[in-house]
Parts: sequence; structure tokens; C-alpha cells
Amino acid sequence: MDAIARRAGTPCYIYSAAGILSRYRAYDEAFGAAPHQVFFAVKANSNLAVLALLAKAGAGFDIVSGGELFRVLKAGGDPAKVVFSGVGKTAPEVEYALESGIRGFNCESEAELSLIDSLAARQGKKARAALRVNPDVDAETHPYISTGLRENKFGIAMEEVEAVYGRARRFQNLILDGVSCHIGSQLLNSSPLVEALDRVLELVERLRAAGTAIGHLDLGGGLGVPYEPGDEAPSIGAYIERICERVKDRGLELMVEPGRSLVAESGLLVTRVLYRKSNGTKEFIIVDAAMNDLVRPSLYEAYHEILPVKRDPRRGTAKVDVVGPVCESGDFLALDREVANLLPGDLMALATAGAYGFVMASNYNSRPRAVEVLVEGASWRVVRTRETLDDLIRGESV
Ligand SMILES: *Cc1c(COP(=O)(O)O)cnc(C)c1O
Repeated sequence: MDAIARRAGTPCYIYSAAGILSRYRAYDEAFGAAPHQVFFAVKANSNLAVLALLAKAGAGFDIVSGGELFRVLKAGGDPAKVVFSGVGKTAPEVEYALESGIRGFNCESEAELSLIDSLAARQGKKARAALRVNPDVDAETHPYISTGLRENKFGIAMEEVEAVYGRARRFQNLILDGVSCHIGSQLLNSSPLVEALDRVLELVERLRAAGTAIGHLDLGGGLGVPYEPGDEAPSIGAYIERICERVKDRGLELMVEPGRSLVAESGLLVTRVLYRKSNGTKEFIIVDAAMNDLVRPSLYEAYHEILPVKRDPRRGTAKVDVVGPVCESGDFLALDREVANLLPGDLMALATAGAYGFVMASNYNSRPRAVEVLVEGASWRVVRTRETLDDLIRGESV
């Protein structure tokens, strides 16, 4: 980390290829011989090198925008292994997806089915789709990342969904042969996911009884990772085996869309200490990374473990707020945290930053976005250069 930070500068995101691949294989191998496909949720980390790594390993991709499809194609992803999710797909995005030959759409309203049907007709194609149902289970996670409750904007309510499948038979250019759901993110207990699966399996049986052929079931993502000491996350293998057990012998292809659990633990944000400061009662460590680089602490009160890049026990620890240079009181990376007593010039790493880290970065305060580095075996390379001042004003005019 020290060598990378000296060459690439800070703040710097560092990803481990081996870490990402080991999690992908944990998913893929746990399915065994059961018909399945793992779709990486691109929104968690959309760097081209990360996508290329997963594409080469055989992953499919879950996208939520035309921009993400563009990235997947640029990274060498197979469009036949892309599913398009999200509540607000636009007509140009649907056209782009149809032209690219993606595998299918996870749809969230009847109006969306109708749009896809008419655009597919114009291209002389048949689009494959699943309806995203809202199983109304409590994911027991942060309200901002809970999506499976009736009050959320996502999916179609269980009571309405059968009628929608029935009416969808009128669409000539749409093959509605799947059911999907995604109940939330950062679940540290897989039971709500299994409960959602059970509700969806009952729905599949009812739909089949009513004459709708259902060939695949997409359980979405959501598996959590340990951020804080004491967090216990479900094992990927145990979770997949648990759901396979319930789905086997039903003639269903099982699909999952993990984001966080594939990449979070394989990423660090490395930052350098700029200043130490005390305001009477409070101690601050001011670093060169800020909420524009990693917004999770400000947005979700998320916890990222803070590690000194060089351990020196003689330094001791200090209880501090770790803050960045952005002009907001909400700009912090940690509050009231006992951390290594780092001094100006020292390097600090924020752990578990491989998911929803760089992808949520912004240029707020006109700060160029950080550099991204991929470590493969004993070597490393820059996979996105640090933005320049000219990048900041690209497309603007006086
Ligand atoms: C965000 C999202 C995912 C990935 O969620 P994780 O919690 O990162 O695994 C999967 N599917 C859909 C539809 C999503 O919106």
C-alpha cells in the first residue's frame, strides 16, 4: 500500500483481483450442477478492469442504466448474460439494451412491459422479461437500502402481480417467463432472503397453475459483509446451498445478483493524513479523502474500519473524528473512533471500500476523483487515472 500510494498518490482505491474472484467462485461453485447464473450488480463497482475480471470468470451482469450496459460491453461482458433492472428505464435505454441483445429485463410496472413490447416490435425482436415482485418482507437493514417492503418504490405488490402476468399475455413481443425480487442490501442474516424465496416459490406455483410458463427465478442481491468488528455475515456458500435446496427439482433456473458481497471486502481506500487538530474537547485527524470520495459514512452512517498502513505500537491510539477537506460538517469518515495515533504524512486505509465506494464518488468542492488500482498477484496497475483539473471542467463553457 505504501509503494502504491507513493507512486499513484492519494486518495487511492485499491482492489484485489484474487479477493473478487474468490467470492465469485464461492457463489458459482455453491450452485453445483443446478441450472444457475450469477449476475454481478454493476452499480457496486463499475470499474472496467473489475468488470473484465468477472466477465472472464464467466459472470453475467445486472445493470440499472444504459451507462452500465456501455461499461459491461466495453469490458468484454457477454450481452447474452446481462439483465436490466430498475424502476425508471427510459425508451433510449430499452432500445440500446434490445439492440445489444441482452438476456432480459426485470420489470417493475405494467407500463414498462408495454414500452418494452412496443420497442421490441419495432426492432422485430422478442424481449425476455421477469416481473419484479415485492414480497413484503422486512430485510432488517438500513431504511435507505431496504427495498422489499410495500412502502418502497420497488417491485409490484404480491396481490397484483398475478393479474399483471395474465394481462401481459397480450404482448406479442414479450416473453414473460421469469419472476424476480430484491429485498434490500447489507443483510447480515439470510433468513429474510429465504422468506422472500418461499413467497416467490408459492407465486411461481400459482402462476404455473394458471398457465404461465415460468422458467427462471431471480433472487436479486443483498448478502451483507462484515464492516464492524463483531459483524457476522452469512457465508456465501451456505446461503446458496440453502436456497438451492428449496428450488431443486422445480425446473427453475436460479439467478442471483450479488454486488456488495462480491467486491466490498476486496477494496481499500488509502488516504494520507494532512493535519491533526484539537477543538478543546475534540480531536480531529484531517485526511486527504473526503465524503466526495467515500460517501457511505455521511449517507448511511456506515462504519469502515480504519487501519494504519504502517503499524507502530509505540505510537498508541487516540479517540478522534476522521474528517476530510470538504466544507460540510457531514464530511466525516469516522466519528469518535479509537484509531492508531497517526500523524501528518502517515497513510491510513479504510477497509471494506470495494463496494459503493468509488461508484458513488462525486466532484463536490471541485475535487478530482481518486485513482483506482487493481492488484493481481504480486503486481499492480492503475485501472483509472486520477482526474485532472481539465477533467473537472470537461463540457463546460463560460
Ligand atoms: C443493488 C441491487 C443489487 C445488488 O445488491 P447488493 O446488496 O450490492 O448485493 C442487486 N439487484 C438489484 C435489482 C439491485 O438494485
